[in-house]
Amino acid sequence: MNPIALITGASRGIGRGIAMELARLGWDVAINFASNAEAAKESIAGCHQAARGTGREIRAIPFQADISLAADRSRLLESVRNTLGPIELLVNNAGIAPKARTDLLDADEASFDQLLATNLKGPLFLTQSVARDMIAAKRRGKIIFISSISAYTASVERGDYCVSKAGVAMLAQLFAARLAEHRIGVFEIRPGIIATDMTDSVKDKYDALIAAGLTPIRRWGTPEDVGRAVAAIARDLFPFSTGEVLNVDGGFHLRTL
Ligand code: NAP
Repeated sequence: MNPIALITGASRGIGRGIAMELARLGWDVAINFASNAEAAKESIAGCHQAARGTGREIRAIPFQADISLAADRSRLLESVRNTLGPIELLVNNAGIAPKARTDLLDADEASFDQLLATNLKGPLFLTQSVARDMIAAKRRGKIIFISSISAYTASVERGDYCVSKAGVAMLAQLFAARLAEHRIGVFEIRPGIIATDMTDSVKDKYDALIAAGLTPIRRWGTPEDVGRAVAAIARDLFPFSTGEVLNVDGGFHLRTL
């Protein structure tokens, strides 16, 4: 039996990159998505292709669910359990950016509520449920939160997003502290500027900033860069670590003089 991972928001972008790297390692992957079933199918095909390249047989199954909604979260977990089996690795990746970048002084509550429900509340309660299952079954497990450099970088035109990601960073600390005694390792992966649909609308801006040296490694990050960090955790390469933050950001976090 292959180990089983649930990756939220795996129909596109970083989530797809993570699912493909796990498939390459021989994991069965639950591909969660919100509404884009066609994109989820492409992720499934990508996972099978990645696994075939290493001669492995894996299962890759799509699961529609809006992680901001309690009913969808419980339906998601029940379907994954019934279809694939118990989850050994949860990757809280699904997230949204604000529909429009708005100055902090004009920002509205509707955007704040939606960002917080999707980026923070969803991962919190999904993790709570998965952790309870792991503990009840006395199974070891791993939980990964995909946060962002926005967890500590103030962007005044998308304060709601920054607040949600700062919250995700704290979730990783909280669950790491709470779950260590149950042999559940919790990690935060902090991506920098990654080429996906989310950053497509600001491509020219970031092209220029990266060329000017915003990141010591002068290139865009890729979903595969993040996927490989997840794969290292999945392979149990950090057995005496928990609550650790992996910066996958081309060195953006470095202070230089
Ligand atoms: P993306 O290309 O916009 O993809 C978002 C994914 O999340 C899609 O699979 C989407 O599903 C899913 N999703 C959105 N809302 C959902 C919901 N309520 N329930 C379930 N799934 C939902 O985004 P990305 O760039 O890959 O970002 C992935 C994660 O990395 C996010 O948490 C983001 O904040 C974080 N991140 C991104 C960057 C970056 O530069 N791109 C940097 C740092 C951190 P559908 O396809 O069905 O819409």
